[in-house]
Formats: sequence, C-alpha cells, structure tokens
Amino acid sequence: MEIARLQTLLGELHSQWAARLGEPGVTWKLRRMKTRWGVCNYAKRHVTYAVMLAGASRECVEYVVVHELTHLKAHGHGARFKSLMDERLPDWRDCRRSLKSM
Ligand SMILES: [Zn+2]
Repeated sequence: MEIARLQTLLGELHSQWAARLGEPGVTWKLRRMKTRWGVCNYAKRHVTYAVMLAGASRECVEYVVVHELTHLKAHGHGARFKSLMDERLPDWRDCRRSLKSM
C-alpha cells in the first residue's frame, strides 16, 4: 500500500485499539526503521511504526499496533505479554510468522 494509505490505516487502528484497550493518550509516528516493525516507548506512551509496514497486509499492520500497545502493560515478550496477545488478537502468531518471512 502507499505510505499515505498506511498513515490513514495506522491512524484508524491505533486509535481504535488504544480506546478498546483503555490506553488513552498514546501518541504515534511513522518512521523509517530497518530492523523493527514498531517500537513502544512506554514511559513516554509513544509508539513508532516502521514505514516498511506499507509492504504488509492490513492484518499484519493491526497485529503490530496491538503488539506495541500491549507493551504498555507487558514490557517484554514473556508469558504475560503472550497471554494478553492471545486475549486481544487470538491469531497474532500467524501475523508474526508472515512478518518474519517478509
Ligand atoms: Zn515487542
């Protein structure tokens, strides 16, 4: 998808999920990153999304949004993170797999 389309999609998904998860006031921006799809600065409540998500499907973009917002409650990728992801987006592992193969 085009960058402008990605920006719109992220705007929608990020605010929908932040509201659904009870995480108001989380800001975000889009930036060029080579090795990560997203980064969550939980102290600043700010998420940075990678421009290369433009090459991913809508489902995968949604997975990255939920993944980064989940870091506000679970900072690492341990058991708590995984159980929150299972609750929030049951098929998140499929998206993680397809992003890894990109
Ligand atoms: Zn993570």
